[in-house]
Amino acid sequence: MKIKAPVAKNEQLDVKIMDLTYQGLGVAKVDDFPLFIENALPGEEVTVQVTKVQKHYGFARVTKWSVESADRVVDIDKTYRQTGIAPLQHLAYPAQLKFKQHQLEELFNKAHQDVTVAPTLGMANPTQYRNKAQVPVRKVKGQLETGFYRQHSHELIPLTDFYIQDPAIDTAIVKVRDLLRQFEIPAYDEINDKGVIRNVMVRRGYYSHEMMIVLISRQQKIPSQAQLVDQIHKALPEVTSIILNVNAKKTNVIMGNVTRVLYGKPTIEDELLGLTFAISARSFYQVNPQQTEKLYQMAIDKAELTGKETVIDAYCGIGTISLALAKHAAQVYGVEIVPEAIEDAKVNAQKNHLTNVTFEVGKAEDQMATWQAAGVKPDVIVVDPPRKGLADSLIESATKMGPKKVVYVSCNPSTLVRDVARFNELGYEIDGPVQPVDQFPQTPHVESVTVLVKK
Ligand code: SAH
Repeated sequence: MKIKAPVAKNEQLDVKIMDLTYQGLGVAKVDDFPLFIENALPGEEVTVQVTKVQKHYGFARVTKWSVESADRVVDIDKTYRQTGIAPLQHLAYPAQLKFKQHQLEELFNKAHQDVTVAPTLGMANPTQYRNKAQVPVRKVKGQLETGFYRQHSHELIPLTDFYIQDPAIDTAIVKVRDLLRQFEIPAYDEINDKGVIRNVMVRRGYYSHEMMIVLISRQQKIPSQAQLVDQIHKALPEVTSIILNVNAKKTNVIMGNVTRVLYGKPTIEDELLGLTFAISARSFYQVNPQQTEKLYQMAIDKAELTGKETVIDAYCGIGTISLALAKHAAQVYGVEIVPEAIEDAKVNAQKNHLTNVTFEVGKAEDQMATWQAAGVKPDVIVVDPPRKGLADSLIESATKMGPKKVVYVSCNPSTLVRDVARFNELGYEIDGPVQPVDQFPQTPHVESVTVLVKK
């Protein structure tokens, strides 16, 4: 172990970038001591100034590029790279797709697992794809602003064009911002825990064009609420739902537990693979509708259903994968922890005239054990967990039920690799290549589909 870092704060040095971290930072090594460098790409030779030194690693910023990467693209706007919105926008899109494939390959390699990773399935136009925005509202230089945080901070950078969002959503955010200014509604002040509007969330149906606006407020009532709501839906004809969400806590969690409909319906509708879905404010819904159709189609194809199977969809959200699979299976069971999402899922089953689906509210790990105890014998289990991956107990109950196949939709390669190792111990192995699907262009997020079969 190193006693002393080989670099000091403010020191200038010439380095070569060897790698890109999961967060999209360039990595250079000085005698094995890693320096993380914003806006630096593998292969580049740069002069850097050290900005921070910690025990096992440091940070630096580029002051001069001697050799630039062939994969570097000119920043459209450097704020996109500086915020969490598009930290990879300086990397050409084909190189982003390779980077994601490589992330998975490396993690499987490190875990000594011999796995093939297919090339990442990308988008033809990897911008303006998001169907949802969740932006902080803060006072900056005396004025209420909407925008995005600088990475690793709570400093708001005002933005009006978010680059990766549906432009109709960008327009809506600016309109809401202008109305908040006009009615002099105070922005949330995080430091003193004062003010009113914390965040604005906008979701727009890709096919339906129905728009939902959620105003996330520290207070039960927004000043001039009735006029504000009236002006919002007058200014934005696509708006079919305006929701108040109250979050009085001092927390980074965006939404609170109370939601009230201020105008229109509690849900908006959208379509995926020809099915209709109602989506409420607090339900999870995939943010890249074009890629989601590809992702789900892949999960359906990989499940290889004939119409006779019993299927479990764990972490089912509003039932999107469950219902897409129900068309090709005998019986589908879904489980999800958010009660509103399961209410949506039940409505969605009815909307699509699918009666062979049962939805339960609960923790997937508990419900899986319940189904196992009740003697449910699934042929296929689909899991689509959040970033923390699967609970060990879920993998145990799942494998005890003995499905022929497990289709693992993952949004975090490191927990995927960990969970695959556990499945291996319990008699399941990877079948075919791991398939990354780019759900989040311009960001380092890696989504993938993996099939496991009984050994
Ligand atoms: N398959 C869905 C949702 C995937 S996102 C889709 O594609 O739309 C993951 C979902 O898991 C979220 O809806 C989240 O609310 C839910 N979730 C998180 N932890 C959970 C747990 N322990 N048990 C069940 N669901 C959980």
